[in-house]
Formats: sequence, C-alpha cells, structure tokens
Amino acid sequence: MAPEISIVVPLFNEEESLPELCAWIHRVCTEHHLPYEIIMVDDGSTDESWSVIGQLRQKFPTLRAIRFQRNYGKSAALNEGFKATRAPVVITMDADLQDAPDEIPGLYQMIASDGYDLVSGWKKVRLDNKLTKNLPSKLYNAVNRRMSGLKLHDMNCGLKAYRQAVVKSIEVYGEMHRYIPILAKWAGFRKIGEKVVVHRPRKYGVSKFGWERFVNGFLDLLSIQFISRFGKKPMHFFGLLGMITLFIGFVLAAWLIIERLFAGPDYGLANRPPFFIALTTMVMGALFFIAGYLGELIARSAADRNVYLVQERIGDEN
Ligand code: UDP
Ligand code: MG
Repeated sequence: MAPEISIVVPLFNEEESLPELCAWIHRVCTEHHLPYEIIMVDDGSTDESWSVIGQLRQKFPTLRAIRFQRNYGKSAALNEGFKATRAPVVITMDADLQDAPDEIPGLYQMIASDGYDLVSGWKKVRLDNKLTKNLPSKLYNAVNRRMSGLKLHDMNCGLKAYRQAVVKSIEVYGEMHRYIPILAKWAGFRKIGEKVVVHRPRKYGVSKFGWERFVNGFLDLLSIQFISRFGKKPMHFFGLLGMITLFIGFVLAAWLIIERLFAGPDYGLANRPPFFIALTTMVMGALFFIAGYLGELIARSAADRNVYLVQERIGDEN
C-alpha cells in the first residue's frame, strides 16, 4: 500500500533508541490505520546505529535508510531524507525518543484535513531541564519571531509535519534546520501552524548540541535573512552601501578641495579629520562595489545544490 506518511528520522549515534522508536511508530500508525514509511538518515554514526537499522529493516519492510560517509549535521540529514520521501505527508522526528510518535496522528490530521502546509511542534513543557537550554531557547525564539514575522514558539522543534510539496521545495543546509518554517514561508507556503507536543526526557545517549547552538543559530538567522533578500541580487545590498559611502567620500572631498582653493597654501589639508574620513569612505565604497560584483558573479555561477556523499542506501527497491 502506498504510504500516507513519510517519517524522516535524522540520527547520529542513537543505537539504543532505534528499536524502541521503530516499534512505537509502527504501533501508533497501525492503530490509526495510517500506512507509513520510515526514512532513517544515519548522519555518520560511529556506534552500531547502521547495523541496528539493518536488523530493523528485517522487521519493518517499509523502513528505508541512507547512510552518510561522515557526520554532516542534522540539516544535511534532513535534506537528504526529504529527497527520499514519497508520501503526501512528511513528518520529521528526532531519533532519541524525546519526540513521542503518539503525536503522529494529530499532526497528520492537521496537514491532511485542516489544510496546513507545515505544522511545527511546540514543546511547551521542556524536559531538558537545563538552564543552558530552556532560557536561551526562549530568548532565541523571541528574536526569531521578531525577525521572521512567524509567530511560532518553538521554531527548532524536531517534531514537525509538512505537505510533501514543502519539503521538496526547500533546501536545508548548514545549520538551517532551525529555520525550516522561515524557509517554507519564504518559499511561498502560507498556512504554517503549531501544535503543542509532549516532550520527553532523553532516555539513552547524550545531546549532540551544546550552547554554541545559540550563537551559531543567531548567525544563521542573519545569513538566511541576507540570502533570502539578496542571495540572487547581491549588488542591491553592496551597491547601496557602496553608493552611500562613496557619496559621503565625494562630498567631503569636494568640500575640502573648495576650502583649500579659498584658504590657499597654508590650509594644512592632511591635518584635517574630514580628509581621512573622505579617504576611508571612498576606499570602502570601492570595496563594496567590488564585493557586489563578485557576489553577482558567484550568484550566477554557483550550482544551487549542496552535494553530500551518500555511502549506502537500503530499501530503495520498494
Ligand atoms: N543529529 C544528527 N546529526 C547531528 C546531530 C544530531 O542527525 O550532527 C540528530 C540526533 O541523533 C537526534 C536529533 O538530531 O535524532 C536531535 O539531536 P539531539 O537530541 O542531540 O538535540 P537536542 O534534543 O539536545 O536538542
Ligand atoms: Mg534530543
């Protein structure tokens, strides 16, 4: 039977959790008569995750898996998993059992019946129980809401549901998995909602992200804002800055020249602050224009896709 739901699970060293996760997904989907497929993306695990997946495949024939040559990060794993999806509804969840498969039917309903393009989980009660995670996360989400205009409480929740068209039309790379709803919004999908989901403590293994996630996350937000606005037309950004700085430089230079003409040889041009400001701004202006031209060249010649080395796949014959 063709699957109704593709469940994408990125994983990195989660050998203990996988059997439980598969069994749980299977139980929930069977109870609700939802034909499903699971796509596991092994993001370069160094433990036994891949062989565990091989064994699970015997038991769960709709499980497919992709194995990366090395650890590329959660975004790359999701991106590759998205490409492999075949069902009209796609659900992502973490492998560590912090996201409960019990949420699958509810999320599925919101996409299939309520017409949402994307539904993001909201871990209203977080069980990470660490000051380093909960407080920064609140702040971070507040900044995100302001900057993106998307009113989501928990943008980075691993548990999300999508219409298939959404995952096929966005590209997740770097650390952009934190901003999938923003990417989806910019790709033109409007009905983006959220659903309160149960969050569970991590049962096995350790978290793969530390405090750096907040610094990196913020920098990524700046880059995606820049890329989405100017990625295809960098000159509009750099050219504007270049024009402003060049203008300041030329006005100051013109003023200095006129003053010098009236004041005569005792003027002392090189002792005057505006002289240096004029010099610097003119050089900066030229640099901005060079950056703009280079940006244009890169935007035109860069291949749009990131290439990952996929080491192995199983289950593609289904
Ligand atoms: N993950 C991954 N590649 C990475 C880091 C994490 O595929 O480089 C997976 C990880 O195995 C888990 C999910 O992403 O399934 C979320 O990671 P984690 O539970 O460590 O994050 P946290 O819950 O602490 O935010
Ligand atoms: Mg986790």
